[in-house]
Amino acid sequence: MPDLPSFLNPTPEKLSEMADNQRIWRERAAVPNRKPTVVEQRVAHGRAREIAARASIEADPSNTFAYEQLAESLAEQGRYKQAIEVCPDGERKNYYEQIVTAIERPDGEECACEDDIRSDLAAHTLRLPRHHVSEWIWSVKHNREMPLVRCGVCGHLNARPLPKHLAQIGRATEKRPDVEVYRHA
Ligand SMILES: [Zn+2]
Repeated sequence: MPDLPSFLNPTPEKLSEMADNQRIWRERAAVPNRKPTVVEQRVAHGRAREIAARASIEADPSNTFAYEQLAESLAEQGRYKQAIEVCPDGERKNYYEQIVTAIERPDGEECACEDDIRSDLAAHTLRLPRHHVSEWIWSVKHNREMPLVRCGVCGHLNARPLPKHLAQIGRATEKRPDVEVYRHA
């Protein structure tokens, strides 16, 4: 009997490799077709922009705009320390520095402000939560997207899991259409 082509006569090793590949593909197919989040899209966008910006700088090292583009593209990827190094704009550099500090803070670190802000402007005293999410960023330290949580009283900024009341608002709006949430608010 002539030798069969190797793909028709696989070795035990080859069979085992094929089974592994099938298992990997089955596992991939089982992952629901999830849309990338806004932050994941931003990270991918940042990678593409970084390549373009580096090419522009190589072509013309005096191109300040290309350095701005490079800094933004690095920030989009959560590479804030590198963004600070190349950023020509002082204000933006300062903001990146604040974000680096916020990421490096322990997640549990809080400012000493009171839990609620009281507002006596209305006929009734309003109690407003002092925290809000200033933006969602990619945190290399956490290896996932994180909210930048800001205190509305003192400006304390921490990249940390959402405080309980903000997480509850998030869950409520995920489960119910907005109109429902506001009708009962
Ligand atoms: Zn505070």
